[in-house]
Amino acid sequence: MAQLFSDLEQDIKGKIVTASDEFAYENEVNKSWNAVNRNRRPLAFVKVKGKEDVKKIVRFCAKHELEVCVYNGGTSAFCMKDEAVVIDLSTMCNVQVDAENKTAIIEGGAKVADVNEALGRHDFVIPLGSFSQLGVAGMTLNTGGQGFLSKRFGMTCDNVLEFDLVLASGELIKVSADEHPELFWGMKGHGSSFGIVTSMKFQLNVMSSQVVAGSMYFPFSRAKDVVKMSRDYSVEADDNCLSFYMLIHIGPTGPEMIVRVHYSGTLRRGGEIVQDLVDLTHPYKFSCGPVNHCDFQKQGDLLLPSGRFNYNVPGHILSELKDVIIDNIFSCVEDIGTDHFLAGTIVYMAENFGGKDCEVGYEESSFPFRNNARYWIGINASTKKEENFEAVKDWGNHFQDINSEYGIPPFDGGDAEQIMDKLKRLKQQYDPNNMFHNNFVPIDGSE
Ligand SMILES: Cc1cc2nc3c(=O)[nH]c(=O)nc-3n(C[C@H](O)[C@H](O)[C@H](O)COP(=O)(O)OP(=O)(O)OC[C@H]3O[C@@H](n4cnc5c(N)ncnc54)[C@H](O)[C@@H]3O)c2cc1C
Repeated sequence: MAQLFSDLEQDIKGKIVTASDEFAYENEVNKSWNAVNRNRRPLAFVKVKGKEDVKKIVRFCAKHELEVCVYNGGTSAFCMKDEAVVIDLSTMCNVQVDAENKTAIIEGGAKVADVNEALGRHDFVIPLGSFSQLGVAGMTLNTGGQGFLSKRFGMTCDNVLEFDLVLASGELIKVSADEHPELFWGMKGHGSSFGIVTSMKFQLNVMSSQVVAGSMYFPFSRAKDVVKMSRDYSVEADDNCLSFYMLIHIGPTGPEMIVRVHYSGTLRRGGEIVQDLVDLTHPYKFSCGPVNHCDFQKQGDLLLPSGRFNYNVPGHILSELKDVIIDNIFSCVEDIGTDHFLAGTIVYMAENFGGKDCEVGYEESSFPFRNNARYWIGINASTKKEENFEAVKDWGNHFQDINSEYGIPPFDGGDAEQIMDKLKRLKQQYDPNNMFHNNFVPIDGSE
């Protein structure tokens, strides 16, 4: 196998790292943001440089029947596996802005930070997730892409005009509303099941880069009331320019409450909102005001350092953040008691659905939560020490279970069975041997 990889390396622009180069191999394993990947022993890392490399490595893996993982931000537990070939897109991170046509081409390995960097200089935005180390493609294809601007401009996947996709056959195709339209629909929600996205063309939205945003801090003793007040305020405000992330951050000395607020309308209205919130909730500390949208988006990174053992549960999408749900979340956090193995964990209650993202119908994209979706609750459960990881998982699963009766079922208001059948047919057509199965929402394409 070593000889085969070295022959392949001659044929591509990128680099292949195997265990025979111990130092380089350990570097690859250890660079993943999520430390759960750091014990894994893939067969090889193929650090691709361009579409042609991706085509060649996919053909190589198909020919030799090798398991494939796709790596970008390295934030999930799906991007590396023992004995798999890790196709590492992280150096394909170019972002090309066409200001005249208000579009951008984003390579398949770009992160939110790369897009922030390219767009931060313009009054253009793409609605993205709130953590700048996330891969844009992973976010678009798996979670649809939810963030502070989803209510105003839709989800990330709603803003894609075109995907360049390498199929399991090694063929490169364009997927858009005109070319492979059914696949285009399927990729906006279940995209990593069909191939490797080498680039995406996005429409750009015009928005002033100056927004009013910031964080407010509260002692945990007041946190539950603050969540309820913020929830009621946002329902009453009913404004698609306003988004809240209500976060419980479990620090080394216990939990604290942080409300991240973002207003993308006029600076004047944003100022009024901040003043209202301060008067209503009395944070012990706050830093809110006019700020560059991309800079604000990056500030969330401070809570999410690299190299921790991270366990994510899907959480729940809710139409209402009922008192009982908030009470359940707080009792789950209180259960942690004084055992701080979960220090660094974040519980989020995000008020970021409800506007443009919910106007999109199930016939337009396969992302399964539209219509009456309003909130996303979930956790980034993490620990510094591997020996605590099983306990973190138990706690995370408990968090998931306690509110499961309130979550909106996938494709609520659509014909779920018919939609799943359509996804299965696409899987059979485009990835019949299920090469792309290491992902969040695998589709069972078997007959
Ligand atoms: C700390 C944290 C914060 C998050 N915040 C948000 C948020 O604010 N909003 C939101 O919507 N989601 C959020 N997510 C979820 C996140 O969008 C998904 O986990 C996403 O898949 C991450 O992609 P990645 O490239 O960072 O991770 P990776 O682990 O590198 O990739 C995950 C998987 O995505 C697929 N994939 C990645 N790139 C490609 C590609 N080019 N072609 C085909 N498949 C690909 C592969 O199956 C890959 O294994 C968050 C996750 C974490 C861990």
